[in-house]
Amino acid sequence: MNVADSQRVASALEQLGYHAAEKARQADVIVLNTCVVRQSAEDKAYGYLSSLKPLKTNNPNLTINLMGCLVGVKGYEHLQKQFPYVDVFSPPSDPGPLIAHLTQDESRDLEQQETEARFALMDGDLVLPDEEKGNLVAAFVPVVLGCSHACTYCIIPYRRGIERSRPVGQIVAEVRSLVAQGVKEITLLGQIVDRYGKDIPDGPNLAQLLHIIHDVEGLERIRFLTSHPNWMTDELLDAVAELPKVMPHIEVPVQAGHDQVLENMKRAYTADDYRKLVNQIRGRIPGVSIATDIIVGFPGETAEQYQATYDLLAELKMDVAHLARYSTRPGTVADRRMEDDVTDEEKWRRFRELEALQESIAAEINAAYLGETVPVLFEEKVRGRWKGRTETNKLVFVESDQDLHGQLIPVQITWTGPWSMQARLPATPGDAVPLDMVSIAP
Ligand code: SAH
Repeated sequence: MNVADSQRVASALEQLGYHAAEKARQADVIVLNTCVVRQSAEDKAYGYLSSLKPLKTNNPNLTINLMGCLVGVKGYEHLQKQFPYVDVFSPPSDPGPLIAHLTQDESRDLEQQETEARFALMDGDLVLPDEEKGNLVAAFVPVVLGCSHACTYCIIPYRRGIERSRPVGQIVAEVRSLVAQGVKEITLLGQIVDRYGKDIPDGPNLAQLLHIIHDVEGLERIRFLTSHPNWMTDELLDAVAELPKVMPHIEVPVQAGHDQVLENMKRAYTADDYRKLVNQIRGRIPGVSIATDIIVGFPGETAEQYQATYDLLAELKMDVAHLARYSTRPGTVADRRMEDDVTDEEKWRRFRELEALQESIAAEINAAYLGETVPVLFEEKVRGRWKGRTETNKLVFVESDQDLHGQLIPVQITWTGPWSMQARLPATPGDAVPLDMVSIAP
């Protein structure tokens, strides 16, 4: 979400005539877009913010914009006091305050100007920043902003505000404009993306949105994340199964494998509900890959309760598990009413144990790709190797001097590991066939 938000800011700045600077100290405007989902992210944000202070002292004309979840949607007086050298504060997904600040017409109401800028920037076309134009293969498109769920550990609803779906016209226009600039793959984003449209009477739901976007010519792949187990519908799974451009990959976090912990988290499903859902997804979408998120060390999580999470992961064998050690987030229900009583050491132990389990599961799943020929969309060259993804979102590297940028081609998997794979390009007609690939009739 922050990648998408930052892109929109960069785009808006370029529309005003700004260009990317190589180093922060050369810049006229610095935007620090922040995440606070865990304490470690928040610490990083404060660290960067402090490092900007000397730049402002050296260059009083510098504009510093603090953006994102550190600012939130509920006022930032405390930050203003603590960081007087910040010129502009912007809530998540909202470049409005920065643009209004830079283009300010003193004779008009600033708030009004911010609102105008905000609407102009969310509506329709998105001109990619210069660096990305014709370069970016896979782009993110936010479709649901904010979140109105109340998972007890989570700070996002407090900082990103209530759930709002973007109108379908805006989304389609944005997707079209991205495709016209060379983008081949779109990932639709929302904290609970499968709730898309719930707040728009007569608007499409996510399944219908997928159908609509599927018609965009030139677009090759569509993904969406993150789903909440309770909002996944058969209609949505059918859309994934039926629409060739929608990739067979679902991100649906479980968070914990014990019912009491799930209840304390206010996730509103049981481990068995989740198990059934995973089986249903696998039944309806052949070859699907599923990713999950897990938090270890939630307040009160006993060794036995944690073991239930371990056992569930071992049983369901997910393709990917994003693991997190619980950290208390200010203002959340868990912060106000529960004690962060699992020691750091124990959180680490559970984390490492799950990590090792996931490593062996992913290695086993990925090993089935060995020797297979699968379509891969190549995005960029990283340290001499082309990087792309399978339909199931597996990372694939290919060594080649050819220009594979933005190409969707079948490749043969030659090596697999838990986190990535290697592949070779198919032999093109006319290529000499290596001897070891020629079979000789007896
Ligand atoms: N809205 C999405 C993503 C939320 S943030 C969803 O519901 O899945 C991404 C992940 O961060 C969450 O899935 C959760 O696993 C983790 N997370 C959120 N709050 C956390 C906290 N306080 N401590 C540790 N991990 C947390």
